[in-house]
Amino acid sequence: MIAWITWCMGISMTGINAIHNRIYKIDQHEGGVIMGAICPKNRTSKARRDSRRANWKMTAPALVKCSKCGALMVPHRVCKACGSYNKKEIIAKEA
Ligand SMILES: [Zn+2]
Repeated sequence: MIAWITWCMGISMTGINAIHNRIYKIDQHEGGVIMGAICPKNRTSKARRDSRRANWKMTAPALVKCSKCGALMVPHRVCKACGSYNKKEIIAKEA
């Protein structure tokens, strides 16, 4: 599968035997089993790949104030500062 990924990324490939009808066949070293996997017909160009990734943006995590201690915490998670959830202590914090 790593060989398949490297071929799809356009990097050098190892163990390739044949590409037939979008089926990529590799000779596996263990037992010589021929594996087939669906493979893209055309290589994605750098410009198309990069323009696709241009929309991958970082977003700031949504944080809420803890209802018990007021610290910023991830919503719907146990508070990391006081170990409480819904004003009830879930994890005992030694301090
Ligand atoms: Zn808290």
